[in-house]
Amino acid sequence: MNSLLLTGGRVIDPANQFDAVADVLILNGKISAVGKNLSAKAPKEIERLDAAGKIVSPGLIDLHVHFREPGQTAKETIASGVAAAARGGFTSVVCMPNTSPAIDNAGTVALIHERAAQADGVNVFVAGAITKNIAGEELAPIGSLKKAGVVAITDDGHCIQNNDLMRRACEYAKMFDLPVMDHCQDYSLVTDGVMHEGYWSTALGLRGWPAAGEEMIVARNILLAELTGTKIHCQHLSAAGSVALLREAKKRGVPISGEACPHHFTLTDAAVAGSEKFWNADGKILAASQNGELPQWPAYDTHFKMNPPLRSAKDREAILAGLADGTIEILCSDHAPHCDYEKAVEFDYAPFGITGLETELALSLMQLVHTQRISLADLIAKFTVNPARLLNLNKGALGVGADADVTVFDPDAEWVLTAADSASKSKNSPFFGWKLKGKAVATIVGGKMIWSEQTEAVTV
Ligand SMILES: [Zn+2]
Repeated sequence: MNSLLLTGGRVIDPANQFDAVADVLILNGKISAVGKNLSAKAPKEIERLDAAGKIVSPGLIDLHVHFREPGQTAKETIASGVAAAARGGFTSVVCMPNTSPAIDNAGTVALIHERAAQADGVNVFVAGAITKNIAGEELAPIGSLKKAGVVAITDDGHCIQNNDLMRRACEYAKMFDLPVMDHCQDYSLVTDGVMHEGYWSTALGLRGWPAAGEEMIVARNILLAELTGTKIHCQHLSAAGSVALLREAKKRGVPISGEACPHHFTLTDAAVAGSEKFWNADGKILAASQNGELPQWPAYDTHFKMNPPLRSAKDREAILAGLADGTIEILCSDHAPHCDYEKAVEFDYAPFGITGLETELALSLMQLVHTQRISLADLIAKFTVNPARLLNLNKGALGVGADADVTVFDPDAEWVLTAADSASKSKNSPFFGWKLKGKAVATIVGGKMIWSEQTEAVTV
């Protein structure tokens, strides 16, 4: 049971600085050996997967997903979220606590763990809330959240505005050895902005969400990380100024880190003005990947509304540069499912967020590896060992004895994701119909193949 032999793939394990064509032998849910010609060593009866021509990497980790359970199961459930993660090549995810009720107590953490155990697919880790009901007023019971098994705390979707409260949260988090993750948004600057404040917000008559609204809180977090010595992780960075602040602070040794999502380093605010404007203004390089047939969408399409918003081409470039030079160490999706009827309204009234688990590996490969900005090993590190280190997870590596969480992917496979194919319960992706390059082939958790392209079904 839970044993498998992967043969002939290019094994890239950045944590162990391993990159070679090799076999991977999994016995009883653990990595038993990585090396040449393991066929003879493997028990005859175990399943084999020919990985020739494919990449074999430690199981990918997405530390920023919204599975909407409890409370908003029309959008997503843990089971449907787990299915989407498996299809995207992810073996571990971290659920954000802005559910209904919020994950601000041990009981709700236990509920998520229980539902995840029933789904029996990818590993579901939980981030607890920093404040009660994510209201930003009173600290949640951080010690009991830790005891219940949360791997970090965050008020994601919201941002604590009171700097002293954030300081206290950091001090508690340090006592319990928990990283603090933060959705960086200064409410007084952002007010009711719905898209990036710039040329396009003015042209379209939509209220702006200025880049400074993010940068202000990134600067605050750097100061508080320095003051308290607590690790603060800035979520879904979108603005050039945030990258510059982070780069400078990391040079000084401040315990601060950041993550980026594919939509922020693929699209720009011009996309809100419709496909024609986007392809003409900011999509010229990207257009080459679409082989002449450019995806189309109208102006004010709410699938391009997210928080933080799509920003300018200059910001997109800065995020890409930050990923390339290591300032931003972690890639994630901010998978945020919403029902069709919620998104099918005027731009002002639509909720922020898009799904992302099934497209993030391809978009990251396209924007970072296929464009030669970073190596395949660097990309894999940003999806494996780097998030594992931040969250103190015993995951993200393929050493002997490690949990056999493995992703097999083809970095060059060309494919198209349609709404009908998506495993997520919600269909709010701006990337349906896009030509994508790079695809998961098999997702293995604890030695069990929970999804493979061949069966195109989550076999749980
Ligand atoms: Zn957020």
